[in-house]
Amino acid sequence: MTCLVSCLTMNPNSTLNLRTGNAIPIMGLGTWQLTRDTAETILYALEQGYRLIDASSDYGTHPGIGEAIKKTEIPREELYIVTKVEETDNAHEASQAYIQEMGLEFADLILIHRPPRTGAGVGLWKGLIEARNDGFARDIGVSNYSIEQIEQLISATGEVPVINQIEWSPFGYSNEMYKYCQEKDIIIQTYSPLTRTKRLGDETLNHVAAKYEKTPARILIRWNLQRKTLPIPKANQKMHLEENLDVFDFEIKAEDMELLNKLNEEYSCLGVLPYV
Ligand code: NAP
Repeated sequence: MTCLVSCLTMNPNSTLNLRTGNAIPIMGLGTWQLTRDTAETILYALEQGYRLIDASSDYGTHPGIGEAIKKTEIPREELYIVTKVEETDNAHEASQAYIQEMGLEFADLILIHRPPRTGAGVGLWKGLIEARNDGFARDIGVSNYSIEQIEQLISATGEVPVINQIEWSPFGYSNEMYKYCQEKDIIIQTYSPLTRTKRLGDETLNHVAAKYEKTPARILIRWNLQRKTLPIPKANQKMHLEENLDVFDFEIKAEDMELLNKLNEEYSCLGVLPYV
């Protein structure tokens, strides 16, 4: 893997360094609702060049991911596996159980899937720190966390998450979160980067897409990469898997990035951006 130097030199194997010094691929494959043929789809994705796979116990994709990892000839150290513990889990025990479900000795990254209904989940965070210290995860982070909730975890433990995985697209993002994460050296990994297809027909997005002769989905992925937020689009169809990785032969110019930036209306596929 090569480290991301500038967006002009990005390629499918580019990585960014997390604050711990470990490298993370700049994009990956989401696996929510990828239950029908998980192993087959992941093997195809790996063949195409994907290296980061995003999972969660509640996606039901751990066994299929494990099967693909077992079958592929790509060495484990070249893969990057992300999973998540749930708010009702014992984070330490769950981390061990989930990596075992995938037949792994460790995950590259384990996240708290979402903050519990009350509090910021300090107990979960302490459990993940312990899981990381015991070698079940190389790095730990959070998902769906607000700035205030991240601050609570930091003040209780002194440990800063390496990642906040959140819903993010030109239609829904937060400048405040972007700035906060830059200041704290937390990387934003972006879920539902294609708005689950709901906004692919947007007029401005299609105007920019037509200008570069690219599809709206590729523009959304490229918009993320140029802002150094790391997208994990989900795709079941081979055509989509190929298309979403084919984003390294063009660059969106500053004025068009600005047009896309202006689309922000804090849109969320889920109804409300949980971290705003
Ligand atoms: P998404 O990636 O924005 O959208 C997935 C949808 O887009 C699928 O219907 C897919 O179709 C379609 N698609 C993929 N590539 C396309 C293309 N090039 N052109 C047109 N349509 C395309 O939404 P998501 O699945 O919600 O988010 C991605 C991943 O983020 C998830 O799979 C999951 O791993 C993660 N996630 C995390 C959280 C969290 O709370 N941490 C929440 C939601 C999601 P096909 O499948 O038919 O190819």
